[in-house]
Amino acid sequence: MEALKYLAGYPPHVQARVRELIAQGRLGALLAGRYSQPHAVRSDAQLYDYVQELKDRHLRRSVPLGKVIYDSKLQVMKHALGTHTSVSRVQGSRLKASREIRIATVFREAPAEFLKMIVVHELAHLKESDHNKAFYQLCLHMEPDYHQLEFDLRLYLTQLEVGQARA
Ligand SMILES: [Zn+2]
Repeated sequence: MEALKYLAGYPPHVQARVRELIAQGRLGALLAGRYSQPHAVRSDAQLYDYVQELKDRHLRRSVPLGKVIYDSKLQVMKHALGTHTSVSRVQGSRLKASREIRIATVFREAPAEFLKMIVVHELAHLKESDHNKAFYQLCLHMEPDYHQLEFDLRLYLTQLEVGQARA
């Protein structure tokens, strides 16, 4: 049986339930019913504005955003689905840190809720570099359904792979 790589950290009974849904061909419909809202964040410029707007609302005082782009080469799971890079630049005598945020291209086509979840994840890293308690508290502050969305995103990515394997 194939490993469910996006659900590797979840208990066996959860994985078994997901396998059942896949075998019955129901996982896609279940997700489509729950997440039917697309988003209009198509370009890197639109992505930058989207991220900046969420940052202004929740994390106004943290370091300024650097580059924000969709990255087609990004391995989705490499760093919990997105990536964040700290870029330090010397400006005069001051060291100024800004942050680059790269979002895997799969999120361009994903439902609106999943884009928000991944952006919230990356924004929380502006303040917390580890996936610790403070990190998840920040995520929940920006998106109260964060944990459910992260789980469902894992289902969504699993379903995408199932679909590709069958195509
Ligand atoms: Zn992370």
